Amino acid sequence: MPGRSFLQIPGPTLVPERIVRAMSQPIIDHRGPRFAALVEACLDGLKRVFQTRTGRIVLYPGSGTGAWEAAIVNTLSPGDRVLACINGHFSTGFARTAEAYGVECERVEVPYGDGAPADEVERRLRADAAHQLKALLVVHNETSTGVTSNVAAVRAALDRAQHPALLLVDTVSSLASIDLRFDDWGVDVALTGPQKGLMLPPGMAILAVSEKALTASDKARCPRSYWDWRPILERNRRGEFPYTPATLLLFGLEEALRMLDEEGLPRVFARHARLAEACRRAVSALGLALLCRNPAEYSHTLTAVVMPPGFDSDEFVRHAHRRLDLSLGVGLGAVRGKVFRIGHLGSLNELDLLGGLAGVEMMLKDFGVPVRLGAGLAAAQEFLLSEAISAEARA
Ligand SMILES: *Cc1c(COP(=O)(O)O)cnc(C)c1O
Repeated sequence: MPGRSFLQIPGPTLVPERIVRAMSQPIIDHRGPRFAALVEACLDGLKRVFQTRTGRIVLYPGSGTGAWEAAIVNTLSPGDRVLACINGHFSTGFARTAEAYGVECERVEVPYGDGAPADEVERRLRADAAHQLKALLVVHNETSTGVTSNVAAVRAALDRAQHPALLLVDTVSSLASIDLRFDDWGVDVALTGPQKGLMLPPGMAILAVSEKALTASDKARCPRSYWDWRPILERNRRGEFPYTPATLLLFGLEEALRMLDEEGLPRVFARHARLAEACRRAVSALGLALLCRNPAEYSHTLTAVVMPPGFDSDEFVRHAHRRLDLSLGVGLGAVRGKVFRIGHLGSLNELDLLGGLAGVEMMLKDFGVPVRLGAGLAAAQEFLLSEAISAEARA
């Protein structure tokens, strides 16, 4: 296929040339001095992205799902109770991982399309006067629904209830795209993968860990071997790992962190917010509805679009892939066949987004959905143009 594939799913995202080149290197000795410098650059850079000074970074070869497991086994014990905010497919998966280890999940469940309800969380925490709940599980950006939960409000709920539960946050599809303040928001474990906002190929589990979570890990009794973060933290001090690390991914990570530093996190967040708004305007102009109900919770990394009645979204996604080599996200969990998802995160600019949106319009029409070609694109273009003009006026 000439040209590039439109990988418009909410992860994995496109890997920029710079990162591909950084990874195209001979493998180095993972016990040598050059490797130690690489580890240091990655750990320091990640701290900046998590916006933490006091947190420790732990890296594993793995995946986001593996990072769930690492967060659970290092902080909890079988029989512990936790409060799990469930608002979609990924938050369900996070809770199931805890349950697989004999951790009992009390669920705060809301419909797909809503965010974690901080007031209900506060009520449950206050009801737990004996402090039996050991942790609170939240997914920052629910990738199945395009909803970003207000983690700062959840933190405030913990504080108001004066509850000591650990705050464990899945940031897989938000980190390096949507503002996430590990220190300011009192997060205890933030977990992520490399293949979304960090613009890398899949293959890692990445955690930021607070002092409080480190203390909890001394008492945690979940079985753990590979995911035990203690030997990793210990060996990292000498720039090593207790196993063979994913050397080439670390080269890529170093470059990705450099790129994020060059652009500057505030600008990275603003770019994602701008592209997301352009995408939503396009969707509305096409007469389609968003799954996310509350505008304050609109995700800046993906948009989940409700398919009109009578059309199957999974078939639509397959159609777009077959006809245009355009990859969109399918409906997951309870909204299987009912929504499709447009990813707009990572290494993405205005024209990339417009190309993807042009494909969405064409394929909707081709699939039989009554849309007017160009309507969505024009709405997105108008918005991006007005943003460009106001940015120029500010400069
Ligand atoms: C992608 C994703 C995961 C799973 O990550 P994998 O690397 O696919 O295991 C978990 N949580 C969220 C919110 C995600 O978007």
